[in-house]
Amino acid sequence: MPARGHLEADVAIVGGGFTGLWAAIQLLETDPALRVVVLEADRVGWGASGRNGGFCEASLTHGLANGLFHFPEELGVLEAEGQRNLTEIVAFVAADGIDAELEATGQLIVATAAHEVDGLREWVEVAERFGGGVRFLDRDAVQTEVPSPRWLAGAIASPQHCVMVNPAKLAWGLAASAEKRGARVFEHSRVSGLRRRAGGVDVLVDGGAVVRADQVLVATSAYSGWLRRLGPTFVPIYDYVLMTEPLTAAQMASIGWAGRYGMSDSGNQFHYFRLSADNRILWGGYDAIYHPGSQVLPAHDQRAETFAVLERHFAEAFPQLAGLGFSHRWGGAIDTTTRFTVTFGDVLGGRVHYALGYTGLGVGASRWAAGILRDKVLRPDSELLRLRFVRSAPVPIPPEPLRTPAVELMRHAVMASDAADGRRSLFLRAMDAIGVGFDS
Ligand SMILES: Cc1cc2nc3c(=O)[nH]c(=O)nc-3n(C[C@H](O)[C@H](O)[C@H](O)COP(=O)(O)OP(=O)(O)OC[C@H]3O[C@@H](n4cnc5c(N)ncnc54)[C@H](O)[C@@H]3O)c2cc1C
Repeated sequence: MPARGHLEADVAIVGGGFTGLWAAIQLLETDPALRVVVLEADRVGWGASGRNGGFCEASLTHGLANGLFHFPEELGVLEAEGQRNLTEIVAFVAADGIDAELEATGQLIVATAAHEVDGLREWVEVAERFGGGVRFLDRDAVQTEVPSPRWLAGAIASPQHCVMVNPAKLAWGLAASAEKRGARVFEHSRVSGLRRRAGGVDVLVDGGAVVRADQVLVATSAYSGWLRRLGPTFVPIYDYVLMTEPLTAAQMASIGWAGRYGMSDSGNQFHYFRLSADNRILWGGYDAIYHPGSQVLPAHDQRAETFAVLERHFAEAFPQLAGLGFSHRWGGAIDTTTRFTVTFGDVLGGRVHYALGYTGLGVGASRWAAGILRDKVLRPDSELLRLRFVRSAPVPIPPEPLRTPAVELMRHAVMASDAADGRRSLFLRAMDAIGVGFDS
């Protein structure tokens, strides 16, 4: 139902994806009397939350290597927080009876180039320093798990690091959970602007509705172009996905995959892939497409060239599935920042708080970030608000006309690094030095 007329709220939340919905739930769990309104431009889960790969990872820092690079002094705390967060997500989904097809499988990362094998060994070693739960598989062992001519080795992370979900079902379930706790969730209610007034903020909704709120949470991710202030913080980068027809019993037998792990390969440009509850394979990633001017448009949700690349790579990874068709193809925008992690900030005199920038790893981290937004509103003394991870901002991204060449330069440097056995060019090392990008 769209928002109409004049509404009053203690907290208005813009965006009905994971960040906005978890924020509504956590606000109301902390203070059940709060008047919380969620405004979603389309339908709940329409953004990245309803169309992602469903890898719900514990990491808040886009992996250990990126965490060590950007937040070495806080990584112990951030890893512990991420694990607590994942445990609480699993418990919440069970307690609230959300049918999100959650499978506590863990994750299998494979190497498809010799230098990536060393990278996997390093990951296992680093993980040991932060609680372990990751083990190395040599070529024979990985072929026993999921046979493919492409895999040279692998590493399995336990379910304490990653569980798999059906993301759209999770988003719809979270909306029901938020409403059950008293939130009012309005769909087809696009916010066009925020207007400061004495003691609060007026949230202006297309069609004329106005929500008079004390505080506002902005949770619009890669679709945050409506709030110009957020422009330098992120770049919308499109990611694309294929979904196969359901596999027959014989096709399932040919790929093994008894552990049903979420999988990915480990180049800078990587694929992620998984089994759905009805035994289709979701196969996505690799290309990362920027549309000049930071365009985010429904027309970009389909991209034939990328789908053709993904189909070719799928055939190389799973030749035993030749002839298997693809029933669905889609894409979505990712809120990429220069340090690949969620970032927070306050605007309009501290009455508007935002969280965005998960850079393709927000299924789990969005709940933690929503907890930070809740703390900003209700628990200003929270220790977590003092983390550098929360307080500091990533290096800003220049506006056009510099943005397009800057993004393309970075993309080509990363591709070249994959082609050169992982060696980092002078350009990438210069970017590392100023805290842009990461060493995976
Ligand atoms: C193809 C793809 C695959 C991915 N795979 C994974 C994965 O496997 N694991 C993982 O951890 N992460 C993955 N991600 C990233 C993950 O989906 C996101 O980090 C996460 O869903 C972000 O949630 P959010 O609520 O912040 O944003 P979103 O889900 O994008 O929600 C923002 C919402 O705001 C609404 N909105 C926008 N503008 C307005 C406005 N003006 N007024 C009102 N509402 C507005 C939008 O309609 C949208 O519903 C993937 C992303 C994509 C695109």
